[in-house]
Amino acid sequence: MTNLAYTRARRVTVRDVRRANQSALLRQLFFGGARSRLELAEQTGLSGGTVTNVVADLLADGLVAEAGTEDSDGGRPRTILEIAGARAVVVGVDVGETRVRVEAFDLGLRKLGAEDRLVGVDGPAPEVVVASIGEAISALRRKAGVDGSPLAGVGVGVSGVVDDTDGLVYSASIGWDGVPLPAMLRRELEIPVRIDNGAKTLGQAEMWFGAGRGARNAAVALLGTGVGAAVFADGQLYRGAHSSAGEWGHAPIVVGGRACRCGSRGCLEGYAGGWAIAERWRDAIGGGAAGEEQTVTAFGRAIGVDPRAEALAEELAEHLGAGFGTLVNLFNPERIVVAGWVGLTLGPALLDRVRDHTRAYALRRPFEQVEIVLGELGPDAVALGAATLVVDGILAGDLALPRGGQRRAPAVREALSV
Ligand SMILES: [Zn+2]
Repeated sequence: MTNLAYTRARRVTVRDVRRANQSALLRQLFFGGARSRLELAEQTGLSGGTVTNVVADLLADGLVAEAGTEDSDGGRPRTILEIAGARAVVVGVDVGETRVRVEAFDLGLRKLGAEDRLVGVDGPAPEVVVASIGEAISALRRKAGVDGSPLAGVGVGVSGVVDDTDGLVYSASIGWDGVPLPAMLRRELEIPVRIDNGAKTLGQAEMWFGAGRGARNAAVALLGTGVGAAVFADGQLYRGAHSSAGEWGHAPIVVGGRACRCGSRGCLEGYAGGWAIAERWRDAIGGGAAGEEQTVTAFGRAIGVDPRAEALAEELAEHLGAGFGTLVNLFNPERIVVAGWVGLTLGPALLDRVRDHTRAYALRRPFEQVEIVLGELGPDAVALGAATLVVDGILAGDLALPRGGQRRAPAVREALSV
């Protein structure tokens, strides 16, 4: 093991060091807010001289801006630095089963606007999705008055598996089996595209800005129409060999159980996915023509009132408890964040019961070490999370920004990635 690591080791170049230093300062400014060079040096452990040099580069590139001064003890006032939000526009997209949501942000991820586009009911055609995204981005830039700011990139969250080796999207829920969405978007938009599973992008949004803040080892459980999880180990999203890790909704919890839309049986999603809950509530009340969201909401309102809802709620809480117990036993998270529209709709009524069942299914010690909390960002955080993919690339220094006014710079083409 040690030998392998040794032979693979690469010489660290001056450029690597500069990039790592830039990244450290940018992260400090992005997550910690505006501060002086002195504070940056204290917080990153870099020398004052290095901070001065790196900040000069960042100011020249326009990534960082001066934001006034603060008094120092007797000395001359210190300049405060911040991420230059207006430097570029970042786009986040949530590709849903019937609509795409497109949100525009500045570089500090302050929201500039959002547009929804309906894309059909029987699984959206990829061409329609791509055209809708392009059109929505133009509309957003016009409305927000940022036509002149260059686009840093577009992040996309999509249900299903995004294979990072071939860049293809495999999604049973929207009927896509190997759709080259990233390549199609790059062709259409001519900007960097980052794409990931929607559960993972929502998870990253909760970790950066919501209920996951401050946790290093956490699982964000996405309970929506489908069920998935984003698992963060030591602050990093766990992806697996080809980035399909986290398909927690298809963990079997009942051997030979209900048919799931993935083709298997007894999956957690077959009990706790929005589609499954709606199906089961319609069965319980003897029919009903309302759509999935209305049906799940009606079920939620009936909990504690209608004995049929009580029975289903109790079963659902136990199925979720078994699922959460699996997360606890496998990953030993310090926190589980319950997100997604089903999680946020039913969570307030069910969370205490789900905790009790999790206690019964998880090992005692890791259960005592985990808190199970509701997400803070609402069900629309998939697009925000998708935008973090782009910002993460900029902060890490592997996604360069185009110059203001230019459509595309050569450095950006090199940085294209899945
Ligand atoms: Zn399944």
